[in-house]
Amino acid sequence: MRIFKFGGASVKDAAGVKNLVKVLQHKGYTDTLVVVSAMGKMTNAFEKVIKAYIEKDKNLDTQIAQIKKYHTQIIGDLFTDRNHPILFEIEHIFGLLKGFMLANRSTNYNFIYDQLVGFGEMLSTKIISNYLNEIGVDNQWLDVRQVIVTSDDYRDAKVDWDETKYRISNAITKGQLYITQGFLGATKDNFTTTLGREGSDYTAAIFAYSLNAADVTIWKDVQGVLNADPREFKDTKLLNQISYKEAIEMAFYGASVIHPKTLKPLENSSIPLYVRSFIDLKLEGTQVKKGEDVVPLVPCFVVKKEQIYLQISALDFSFMVEHNIGNLFQLLDRYKLKVNLIQNSALSFRVCLEDKYTNFEAFIEEIRTHYRVEYSENVTLFTIRHFTEEAVNEVEKDKEIVLKQISESTIQLIVK
Ligand code: ADP
Ligand code: ASP
Ligand code: MG
Repeated sequence: MRIFKFGGASVKDAAGVKNLVKVLQHKGYTDTLVVVSAMGKMTNAFEKVIKAYIEKDKNLDTQIAQIKKYHTQIIGDLFTDRNHPILFEIEHIFGLLKGFMLANRSTNYNFIYDQLVGFGEMLSTKIISNYLNEIGVDNQWLDVRQVIVTSDDYRDAKVDWDETKYRISNAITKGQLYITQGFLGATKDNFTTTLGREGSDYTAAIFAYSLNAADVTIWKDVQGVLNADPREFKDTKLLNQISYKEAIEMAFYGASVIHPKTLKPLENSSIPLYVRSFIDLKLEGTQVKKGEDVVPLVPCFVVKKEQIYLQISALDFSFMVEHNIGNLFQLLDRYKLKVNLIQNSALSFRVCLEDKYTNFEAFIEEIRTHYRVEYSENVTLFTIRHFTEEAVNEVEKDKEIVLKQISESTIQLIVK
């Protein structure tokens, strides 16, 4: 079994869907499971719909209509039959969306988010699966929520590995092509959950692990894993091969090319991961597998924006040691603040964090009663793996450095 993952950028329009077919035809598609994200920027569009629904914004219907128009346009470009059953399937999906909105009584934002945001993946996979069948590429559409079982930590659901593995192995038969949704799972009670933004890569790894797949390929709009994000840096270099450990470090520090949770399940079963271009199929891309850290060995840059730099000291005479730090970490965990760097001295605890779930204000309010707190929002965290003096100079040029931390192969800089 091989697992392919196509992200939103690869299926943003009809041409993208046709290109997906080209990739399948080029690589062969028996014993293949294809994980697909929502088309283009549809997850962002659904996030806006969710906000409008919760805030009872009058633009809600217009926003839903725009999403519908976007998908019907793609369907119009792909299918010649103006009464093709896909149109009824799409109507049905929008019916379910409206049905949930009318029936819902919950005020839990994360729960509502997960019940609605996944419609993006439902729409994309329905369109792609129907199109493939239409042109003779026979496939099965699989509802991922039937097989990936998770906790009810909405927007950050944890996988129940045993149950998931059991269900996946039972659902998949040999010799077939499957099309399924990335990003989603469901609780045992059948409520939809999500694995975190950009989580479709992780879905691919969950299937690979559960099926002991031969390999996973993530098809991208870049050549492979580069030594920096090409949107942020000029003259980036392709990394031909990296180890799981290196990929985990890069993804964890924020290289958005692979979702950080993707790598552990693959490493555990030694399943190779290929990151390749969906534009130029001749390029070999990057192999992530056991072996050397990085080939070629060059400095790798990771940029994380919209970070918060926080300095905390005690209001009483105590030092910032075990007791206080233990207490702070419990709170950071409770408020789901992601810690990307820490530095500590006797009197002050400094931390660089990310407020993915908009909890920072509540967190600060709680700690202010016990600690003196100072913070700067909107700082940037640069991480350089395998750094050289030249690489550090390049990052430091023209910037105000707030904090610098060096370890064996990694340097991190917080800059304003
Ligand atoms: P997908 O639609 O498949 O999820 P994304 O747009 O999320 O794709 O990810 C691909 C983008 O990741 C690239 O276009 C690139 O700008 C960015 N990126 C960030 N860091 C890297 C890196 N180290 N190597 C390659 N691409 C990177
Ligand atoms: N569609 C989801 C997102 O945009 C998941 C993914 O693309 O990986 O976050
Ligand atoms: Mg993505």
